[in-house]
Amino acid sequence: MVASSVLGFPRIGANREVKKAVEAYWAGKLSADELTKVAAEVKKTSWTSLKERGVDLIPSGDFSLYDHVLDHSAAFNVIPKRYLGHNLSPLDVYFAMGRGRQADGVDVPASEMKKWFDSNYHFVVPEFSEETDFKLLFNKAVEEFNEAKAAGVSTRPVVLGPVSFLALGKAAKEAKPGFQPITLLPKLLPIYKQLLGDLKAAGAEWVQVDEPFLVLDAASNLEKQFAIAYSELAPVSPKILLTTYYGRLDSNLKFVAKLPVAGLHIDLDRAPGQLDEVIAAVKPTNLVLSLGLVSGRNIWKTDIEAAVKLGQKAVEAIGTDRVIIATSSSLLHTPVTLAAENKLTAEQKDWFAFALEKASEVSTIAAVISGSQDAKVASAYEANKTSIAKRREFERTSDDAVRKRVAAITPDMLNRKSPFAVRKEIQKQKLNLPKFPTTTIGSFPQTKEIRTARAKLGKKEITEEEYNEFIKKEIESVVRFQEKTGLDLLVHGEPERNDMVQYFGERLHGFVFTQNGWVQSYGSRYVRPPILVSDVSRPGPITVEWSKYAQSVTTKPMKGMLTGPVTILNWSFPRADVSREVQCKQLALALRDEVIDLEKGGISAVQVDEPALREGLPLRKADWAEYLGWALPSFKLATAGVTDALQTHSHFCYSDFDDIFTSIQDLDADVISIEASKSDMKLLNTFKHYGYSNQIGPGVYDIHSPRVPGEQEIKDRVAAMLAILPADLLFINPDCGLKTRGWKETETSLVNLVNAARWARQTY
Ligand code: GLN
Ligand code: ZN
Repeated sequence: MVASSVLGFPRIGANREVKKAVEAYWAGKLSADELTKVAAEVKKTSWTSLKERGVDLIPSGDFSLYDHVLDHSAAFNVIPKRYLGHNLSPLDVYFAMGRGRQADGVDVPASEMKKWFDSNYHFVVPEFSEETDFKLLFNKAVEEFNEAKAAGVSTRPVVLGPVSFLALGKAAKEAKPGFQPITLLPKLLPIYKQLLGDLKAAGAEWVQVDEPFLVLDAASNLEKQFAIAYSELAPVSPKILLTTYYGRLDSNLKFVAKLPVAGLHIDLDRAPGQLDEVIAAVKPTNLVLSLGLVSGRNIWKTDIEAAVKLGQKAVEAIGTDRVIIATSSSLLHTPVTLAAENKLTAEQKDWFAFALEKASEVSTIAAVISGSQDAKVASAYEANKTSIAKRREFERTSDDAVRKRVAAITPDMLNRKSPFAVRKEIQKQKLNLPKFPTTTIGSFPQTKEIRTARAKLGKKEITEEEYNEFIKKEIESVVRFQEKTGLDLLVHGEPERNDMVQYFGERLHGFVFTQNGWVQSYGSRYVRPPILVSDVSRPGPITVEWSKYAQSVTTKPMKGMLTGPVTILNWSFPRADVSREVQCKQLALALRDEVIDLEKGGISAVQVDEPALREGLPLRKADWAEYLGWALPSFKLATAGVTDALQTHSHFCYSDFDDIFTSIQDLDADVISIEASKSDMKLLNTFKHYGYSNQIGPGVYDIHSPRVPGEQEIKDRVAAMLAILPADLLFINPDCGLKTRGWKETETSLVNLVNAARWARQTY
């Protein structure tokens, strides 16, 4: 028999119970015991529903109250000293590491978070040093294995592997220069032995050991470490399924196939092309092969017939007993269940599979390959064939006009009419900005009043007209505030937007939205990505009326504000039937029309935000050129349709430009703003080193915290920037949008920012 398996499950609970309980605990409204109870209920429901859906190998130990990497750090005593000695319970130390803690005289910032591979999930980065003293403080894998057993479900526990754990971490501040966390492997392995040995003693037959690091180029330098780790762990451990996901093994396959483990899991959603070589590599061994055929990253129904074919190929080569049908990765990146959606049409609903539906898919695929005669399996298979056929049919009814427009894109559409040096002079005349112009990144505080008005509109408690009047008042007051404060290039403040992607998705053809499609971003923060389902077009202008209104109440120049094509794509669930390139270009054409309309409407600067450009960079360097080959032209396509007089801006929410510096330069935006307040001047030296030649506004203060930067502090930053960057290129602005800030700190911070700019004009 071919077994079926799921690699991990969403943690939020079908009704967001865990998110709510965690936040209630933080607010002091729920005790630790009550929180544990809520979590236990959700875990139990997940295990039993996976069992009901016929999944053979059910994960445990993958649950987390905040982040699974943080769980490992906490369990292994990888706890930075700054979180200790405050008289906090272990649970509160854990949350302090994840989100910082500022209460009762304790004031510690959160640990660094990073994007988990190429997903929008963030993990808490472990900090290691020579002093790290590994201990097994608790054994979540054993605890949850027993918890599931008590609930009548036998599970395959999940553990993050030792090499990935170290390699994803960073050197703590107190570590010696050049310290490499991976050198701690010999110290860490005894703890893993203890953990895995305990699991074996508890009765676990298999353990899923995740080593996603193996899909990165950098893993090829760790061959020795993998060999040492697994030859030490295998003898004491339950049977190890070495688990890789999000990409292909490539040349790492050579040494991975030789590791003394019992099984190997590969991702065939992201990397279907590796199946043949993996089969060939494992054939002479005894390895069990787990095929990740059901995507853990998207929400589309699996084409079961196609998956069955791939599974059969493996079965023919190595036999039924050595093949497992699985999700490609944990289902962490998908919502819990489609059952909760009642606003999607029946036709749309039939296209999708969320986590629970995917669980049914893996068991159906496994059953079909095993030759099951079960009527239920047969009817599930038939139903899937019908759904897939209907979806294919829908795909054929694509928007011909959009497709033709994409096919007709010419190279000259990607470039502005004149080079930057020429545009700069024209824009100087037109915008009449002072030296060191001040501006903001777009949003102003999203107050309770704004959110209430939007909710009322949603419930039809106020009319569209009333809502629009309310938004106009908001815009006018934000404009007055900026005038009073003395900012130079104004914005309308984005009060009309619920979210920078959803807002545009809702106003373009081609998207659908869920009511409950929550996906974890970090900690208790969940997002509901829009779903791209068909060709994208713009039925009409989206932001033009708001920007025009904002411009009509002031004589200062107004900056229009859009989310870029790459970011809209990267923060949505993309279609599976056409390439991301095609989807991105369709978005770009729609936005191009919007930028042109803004210019026609009298707006003299337009910012097109691309905060997600970098996170879309593929995991393997060999794939970067392909991605950048359509991502960069898409941005340019969106922004280059205007006259030289329109000043284009773009914004990037990060400070790590090493990998994409030349790409940013290629975008040829007239002005970019970047996050810079927390990084040292190394960042600006990078810009200098490469000779960045367009205008740039490195953020002068951090908007992620309510702290108000002093005037002198901003002056010092500006002075430091001017020591590196040419004076005629510098803009002065905060790090990012102000939507999450309160008005009070926003006012004082911006007054200080404007004063610092005035000082700079006199001094330089
Ligand atoms: N214009 C957006 C804002 O100010 C930019 C946010 C972002 O890039 N994350 O909110
Ligand atoms: Zn930002």
